[in-house]
Amino acid sequence: MRIDMETEEIPCPICENTEKDPLHREGSFQMVRCPSCQFIYLNPRPAHEFLLNFYQHYLPEDGYLIQSWERMMRPIFTRAARLIQQRKRQGRLLDVGTGFGFFLMEMRKRGWDVMGVEISQKAIDYAKGVLGLTIYPGPLEEVVFPENHFDVVSGFYLIEHLSDPMAFLKECHRILKSGGFLLLRYPHTTPIKNLLRLFGIPNRLYDLPAHLSDFSPEMIQRCLERVGFERCWHMIGGHTVPADWTSRIASSVFGNLSESLFFLSTGKFLFPGVSKTVLAVKGSCE
Ligand SMILES: [Zn+2]
Repeated sequence: MRIDMETEEIPCPICENTEKDPLHREGSFQMVRCPSCQFIYLNPRPAHEFLLNFYQHYLPEDGYLIQSWERMMRPIFTRAARLIQQRKRQGRLLDVGTGFGFFLMEMRKRGWDVMGVEISQKAIDYAKGVLGLTIYPGPLEEVVFPENHFDVVSGFYLIEHLSDPMAFLKECHRILKSGGFLLLRYPHTTPIKNLLRLFGIPNRLYDLPAHLSDFSPEMIQRCLERVGFERCWHMIGGHTVPADWTSRIASSVFGNLSESLFFLSTGKFLFPGVSKTVLAVKGSCE
């Protein structure tokens, strides 16, 4: 697919270093690694206006596809909801990049006071109009919520889409209450890309230019600590159930394998390449 767009060269979004080592290419897009902090990001990347417009059409649009997206994400949302409730029974939760609002529905059902932030107007219309949720048009940094306001902030498959992930994490820390926590779910694709390259298997697993970066658990922990989060827990956190059979089998095999190894290693081994969940606490734990 050829996409006409304006692109921009950027310094490393984490440490601002302007040097870069080419890593993987997908079509005309290039992922690079920062030689200073090892962050993996898209460079050059599409200009801001292109991305804003791109996200107006990123999520599925017809009813059937919306429902199948919900079914795909359901195990992740249920697992995250249980994880949250192990630490806090009820409270005020903000889901950033909430899409159609299905995670908010799950938490509302469990008695939480919920609201979301989203940039896609169609998703906002669905979450407000069909599900009756409270949604603020994003990005998060422009909403300006009060300080120390939320018990939980969540973001599912969000951080890899953000132009300035540090600004986002800083804002999450600011709006969380002390003792509140941030739950992030993110893909970690580079180990699979490295493996497939060894075998010369072409793929577009980074989903460029939708994903602007690829976080490892180590990198996400460093970023979380840098904005002031004091403790992080990493986990596999379940796996999705995609609609098509090939993806569903792959997701199930690698999801179950990585969960088993995580369990057998008493929570130490994070299988490379599968999506992960991290939970970060602001201030001291209760
Ligand atoms: Zn860097």
